[in-house]
Amino acid sequence: MRAFVYNGQPSRVVFRAGALDDLEQEIERLGAHRALVLSTPEQRASAEEISKRLGKRSAGVYDKAVMHVPIETADAARLVAASLNADCCVAVGGGSTIGLGKAIALTSDLPILAIPTTFAGSEMTPIYGITAQGQKKTGRDARVLPKTVIYDPLLTMTLPAKIAGPSGMNAIAHCVEALYAQDANPITSLMAEEGIRSLATSLPRVVAKPDDLNARTEALYGAWLAGACLGNVGMALHHKLCHTLGGSYNLPHAETHTVILPHAVQYNRDAAPKAMVRITLALEGADAAGGLYDLAKAIGAPLALRDLGMKESALDEAAQLATQNPYYNPRPIERAAIRQLLQDAWEGNRPG
Ligand code: NAD
Repeated sequence: MRAFVYNGQPSRVVFRAGALDDLEQEIERLGAHRALVLSTPEQRASAEEISKRLGKRSAGVYDKAVMHVPIETADAARLVAASLNADCCVAVGGGSTIGLGKAIALTSDLPILAIPTTFAGSEMTPIYGITAQGQKKTGRDARVLPKTVIYDPLLTMTLPAKIAGPSGMNAIAHCVEALYAQDANPITSLMAEEGIRSLATSLPRVVAKPDDLNARTEALYGAWLAGACLGNVGMALHHKLCHTLGGSYNLPHAETHTVILPHAVQYNRDAAPKAMVRITLALEGADAAGGLYDLAKAIGAPLALRDLGMKESALDEAAQLATQNPYYNPRPIERAAIRQLLQDAWEGNRPG
């Protein structure tokens, strides 16, 4: 018999090529008058363009977003927002920029309007992360969930293939783990399967033909679904491993997700058979773990931890760290098996 709990996240989504044209009316809808536009230094030009569109509703641009939201950056941005009397943050960029908006919202209650330009999915979640003294702490808070998200596939056209591919695999990882989450539910699972399908069919085209707007649109649609999955249900072993590797060894976020995902799926294969069927169907492949590995390979994404700068000598310690305070996982966490998983991921072996 069916029994589940579904917690919908209250956010407004505007999705279409050219949706950025709706920005002023969406800001108005939020009742905001002075929006602080956030970006990374690399995306300053986009932030300035957005600030220009907003005219007198812009309080200015803050372009210091970096990966993992260092507390110093968060504090500096909070000061800028307060000194400019901002009443809203517009975050244009990937998870790093949206993460900075969340850090501001956490202490000020300023609403966030997010304009994602990668496939990471942070814009759909109430999850924030802030790094202090080398340790990234994450938490959930309804205040950090963006109130409005403008998905404009045109803004992803500049995303280079080598960022787009792993970013899409990062999104697929949210869908995969949603399918075997402890609090999985039928709605999130529908989104998860469809998210994998959209991303798996579009990413090879995104990478092969960077100017294919249809492919970018489909990938961004998949990324929305993936972000919604991440925001709705808990994640498992795969996210714990990536959190450990990223946090303790400073490995790049999306690339680490890409390398670990097939191995985490292989680890859970026999413990989550229904999820495996749905993943396999969505990939149109013969096997979930192998299919994910083949997809990463087909889009030229990294396949081995050793290529991301991970030292083989650190794998014992990584296995120990990753098995402390484990997240829920369908298969119990076994230290020796996790050590082997990391070895396979380090070498870049195809699972199975
Ligand atoms: P990112 O935001 O760090 O962006 C990577 C690089 O790509 C940056 O230099 C950025 O300026 C550039 N870039 C982004 N979009 C571009 C575009 N369209 N054209 C050209 N360049 C572009 O990377 P990310 O993978 O999106 O985010 C990673 C961070 O987000 C991590 O810190 C991760 O922990 C966090 N994250 C958080 C959540 C959450 O729910 N809180 C979810 C996913 C990721």
